[in-house]
Amino acid sequence: MVDDPRSAVMRTWTLPLGDATLQGQSVYDVEDPCTGDVLTQVPDCSSEDVDRVVATAHAAQRDWALRTPRQRGTALRALATLMRDHSEELALLDAIDGGFPLPAMRDDVTWAADVLELMADDALDLGGRTIPLSANLHYTLQQPYGVVARIVPFNHPVLFAGSKIAAPLMAGNAVVLKAPDQTPLSAIRLAELAREVLPEGLFGVVTGHGATAGAALVAHPLVRRIGFIGSPGTGRHIQRLAAEHGVKYVTLELGGKNPMIVMPDADLEAAAKSAVVGMNFTTTAGQSCGSTSRLLLHEAIADEVIDLVVDQVAAIKVGDPLVDGTDMGPVIDQAQYSKSLRAIESGRAGGASVLTGGGRAQGVGSKGWYVAPTVLAGVAPQADVARDEIFGPVLSVLTVRDEAEAVEVANSVEFGLTAAVWTNDVSQAHRMAAGLDAGYVWINGSARHYWGLPFGGWKSSGVGSEESTEELLSYTQVKAVTVTLD
Ligand code: NAD
Repeated sequence: MVDDPRSAVMRTWTLPLGDATLQGQSVYDVEDPCTGDVLTQVPDCSSEDVDRVVATAHAAQRDWALRTPRQRGTALRALATLMRDHSEELALLDAIDGGFPLPAMRDDVTWAADVLELMADDALDLGGRTIPLSANLHYTLQQPYGVVARIVPFNHPVLFAGSKIAAPLMAGNAVVLKAPDQTPLSAIRLAELAREVLPEGLFGVVTGHGATAGAALVAHPLVRRIGFIGSPGTGRHIQRLAAEHGVKYVTLELGGKNPMIVMPDADLEAAAKSAVVGMNFTTTAGQSCGSTSRLLLHEAIADEVIDLVVDQVAAIKVGDPLVDGTDMGPVIDQAQYSKSLRAIESGRAGGASVLTGGGRAQGVGSKGWYVAPTVLAGVAPQADVARDEIFGPVLSVLTVRDEAEAVEVANSVEFGLTAAVWTNDVSQAHRMAAGLDAGYVWINGSARHYWGLPFGGWKSSGVGSEESTEELLSYTQVKAVTVTLD
């Protein structure tokens, strides 16, 4: 008899807390997005629970900060190795509670390990400067904040749990991670594993449903640096809450409604393929902040590209993410499912044509949150489906007359996270990249992150840059020292 892979979650989930565990007074249900049924339960942390985890992290941080950057880097490399050794287990947890296909989650484990190693490589960037101002000695130190809060969303659970602790730890901080409500399991497992290579309590995890645990972290007096990834509404709320509880440094990685522009001279087959990859249908059912969810096609080639895109999207096989051959799983929960279906209806009502998909996926039964991968064409730039983040498998296609209109429409929304330009005219490519209001631009590409290149949003897509030396230094505060020599 073949074991049920979902039995991997049948255990008691407690939170590692220094050399003890946090049982939590209460628990909440974690659901299976493939059925909507309860999978397991995890602690629903109260403010008091959060306080204990922060206090434990605070106690561990002082000694950690005294280690040299290269010593800290060695520990991060050991954590990266542990993640690679446990790749199958961690990826399976994300596939089960997130509904994401297993191959994509294996990649996420690898990428998290890559980022831990990248930050370890940057150890000597924590060096500060000497500044020749006078006959005295002037230098700067890059010093940690203490306990950093990392609050992350549901869509790349282990990637965020592993990669988003790397910079703050490398910089000498302790980290308390608020695991995503819907997909907390891999973060808890990572914290268990980390006890083998990190000092007890240095990396704490809190879990919880709703705002309580995250808000308690933001408000905590020992937490002065907050790195948030999630929706724009929660991001703004965190900025307000942080301001009410002191002076805190908050960075935000928020949503996107990212344009991909295809000009007539582009390699159209490659562009169409990249448009589908850029939507992240087959990794997260479109639930990625960087998804190029607005396809802006020059009118001269629009029909040809639309046909190529629709053929590929219609061929995406939707089903159980744990079954070999499945390309795309469900969206995360009922709220995200209803939001996607409402967006499709709003597109229809606004005059867009549904070229493939357009509702619940076929052939998956009646349970679970399966949305058919959908292409809406003839979308007007003012339509909600052209302006609002859907965070589901819905691609909106618009047509433009020329370069100027393409950039104008691309920049006309409140978001500014990523953008992509397809053209073989090198001058046009650089001109458009410079003109786009976005923090990250692909020319003749999409989707892929290159660890080490700053990733971050403009406008309502965020504040700050991650995945790079900029992120590492953002987890330090600068101290200037003058040594009087004469
Ligand atoms: P969300 O904002 O609902 O939740 C994110 C996290 O915030 C969760 O852990 C949640 O518990 C916590 N939280 C909720 N209320 C809080 C409060 N009042 N105080 C403190 N913490 C609180 O986001 P989500 O639905 O999990 O994720 C989807 C969003 O994340 C999308 O908008 C997507 O674009 C964005 N996202 C951005 C990036 C990026 O790098 N820019 C990456 C991935 C996802």
